[in-house]
Amino acid sequence: MHPMVKPALRRGWRDLNTVQFGMTPAHAMTLGPMDTATGSFLDLLNGTRGLPLLRDEGRRMDLPDGQVDALLERLARAGLLDDTRGGGPAADALRERTDALERLRPDLASLTLTTPEPGGALGRLAARGAQRVQVRGAGRVGALLASVLSGAGVGEVDVRDVGRVEPWDVAPGGLPADSLRERRQDAARAAVRRAAPGRPARRARSTRAAAAASAGTDDPGLSLVIIAPRDDVAVHAPDPFAAEPLLASGTPHLYTGVVEGTGVVGPLVLPGGTSCAGCLHQDRADRDPAWPRLVAQWRSGSARRVGACDLALATAVAGVAAAHALAFLDGASPSSAGTRWEVSLPGLTWHSRPIWPHPACGCGAAERGKGEHSSTDGEPRETMAVRRPSPARRREAGVSRPTGTWRAHV
Ligand SMILES: [Zn+2]
Repeated sequence: MHPMVKPALRRGWRDLNTVQFGMTPAHAMTLGPMDTATGSFLDLLNGTRGLPLLRDEGRRMDLPDGQVDALLERLARAGLLDDTRGGGPAADALRERTDALERLRPDLASLTLTTPEPGGALGRLAARGAQRVQVRGAGRVGALLASVLSGAGVGEVDVRDVGRVEPWDVAPGGLPADSLRERRQDAARAAVRRAAPGRPARRARSTRAAAAASAGTDDPGLSLVIIAPRDDVAVHAPDPFAAEPLLASGTPHLYTGVVEGTGVVGPLVLPGGTSCAGCLHQDRADRDPAWPRLVAQWRSGSARRVGACDLALATAVAGVAAAHALAFLDGASPSSAGTRWEVSLPGLTWHSRPIWPHPACGCGAAERGKGEHSSTDGEPRETMAVRRPSPARRREAGVSRPTGTWRAHV
C-alpha cells in the first residue's frame, strides 16, 4: 500500500489540534485531536511512499512507536485515505493506459470523495469501462448525454434512434454541424467514440456482440438504459408499454428529456424496486381524471417537426441525467430513483416530484413493501460512538462516521 491523503479535499487547521479536510458541507470532515508533529506527517502521505518507508520517516520525526499505523488506520476509517497502488486488477490495467487516465484525472479525484476505501476510486473508475449503457434518442439531450457518459469512462455507450440529423439536432458536445443529413444513430455513435478517453476496446465489444447474437438476445447485460426521446409527449408521459421488456428483463432505466420549457430527469427505475412509467401513469390518472384522455390526444396528434427545446436547458438536463446515471453505475443510489426532477424556464429552480409505486401497476414495486428504502451503498455500519450528522445528511453521504471524526458544519 502507498497511502495518500485524498488530494481532492483541501486541508486547513480549524484550531491548534483539529484538521478540516474539504471545504463543502457535502464532503468536508474534521479530524482531531491531532498534534502538530502528526499534522506535519500528513504531508508525507502523498502516495509516493510505502508503509516501511513511512514508519522510518515517523521515527525520524520522533513520532511515538505505532503512531504512523494508528494515524493511517484513523484516516482510512474516516474515508480520507487513498492507495495509489490499490483498486485491484482492473485498476492496475487502467494505470497502464496513461493517456486515458490523464483525461480522467478530475473524475478520479471526484470519485475519491464518494468512495471510502483506499484504492476504491480507481477501482470504480475502471469498473465504468466494463459497463454497457444504451441511450434511446439522439436529440439535443440524448446525443450529448451519451457523449458525456463515454467521456467519463463508460466502456460501451450504444445510441439508438431513427432518421437523419436535422439542423436543429446540432448541439455543442452532441451532434456536430458536419453530421447534417447523416443517419442520426450513426452520427451519435461517432460522437460517442470521439468523446471516449483513449482508444475503445473494439475487440472486447465485437466479442460481446457475437456472444449476444449467438444467444439470440438483443441487449445482453445492459447496465442501464436511458430513455431520452426527442418527442416531447414521450418525455412528459413516458409510455408504460414501451418499458415492459425492460421491466421483464430487470433492466434499470432512466427517463430524461425536455418538454416545452421544462427539463426532466427521472425517474430512475429499478424494476420491481422503485416506481416505473406505469406507476407514473396511474398516479397521474388518480390525481387528474382527464389525464388518460389528454395523453391519448397528445399521442395521436400530428407530430411537430420542431418542438421547443432550449439549448442551455437541454445541455443542463443532459449533464444532470448523466451524473445520475454515473452515480448509479458507480454503485450509489441517486435521488432520481423513484423521483422525477423537473426544472422550468425561466426560474430554473429544480423541483423533485416523488413517484410512489402504484398498487394498480404490474411492475411489482408496490408489493415490495411500502416505505422500504433500499440502498445500494453497501457501506459498513459503524457501531462505535460517533458524532452523527442529521439523518438527512447521513443518508446523503451514505456512510456513517467513526469516532473522532465528524462532518464539518461549513
Ligand atoms: Zn410500476
